[in-house]
Amino acid sequence: MSDDMIPLPRPTALSEPHWQGCREGKLKVQRCNDCGSCIFIPQPRCNQCQSAALEWVESSGRGAVYSFTVVHRPPKPQFEVPYVVAIIELEEGWYMLSNLVNCDPADVAVDMPVRVLFREMTGDITLPYFEPVT
Ligand SMILES: [Zn+2]
Repeated sequence: MSDDMIPLPRPTALSEPHWQGCREGKLKVQRCNDCGSCIFIPQPRCNQCQSAALEWVESSGRGAVYSFTVVHRPPKPQFEVPYVVAIIELEEGWYMLSNLVNCDPADVAVDMPVRVLFREMTGDITLPYFEPVT
């Protein structure tokens, strides 16, 4: 990894199916076969009913901005500011922390419809971002 790149996640055995999905352009999430909850970030057991019967499914990648903040002071110099950090509520009823891109931070609002997009950072890591649905 070069010094001019933002810090990247390190997949674990538990989270690898999510990252593999990103490399294939799919947003993958765990779903509980017992209660139907979607679980993110990846867990060994359902955080609603403690079942271990979890499977990876593909999300629609569509959702809405649940909450957000605009970052003006970069945590590391590689981050280009300002940028939007948002909690996205996906259609299937789960939440994901991500960045909103392809929009002016001043235009972002709660409940704004968004969809996932993917950016390949390295051969191993493709990151999911979200953009407004226009
Ligand atoms: Zn469950």
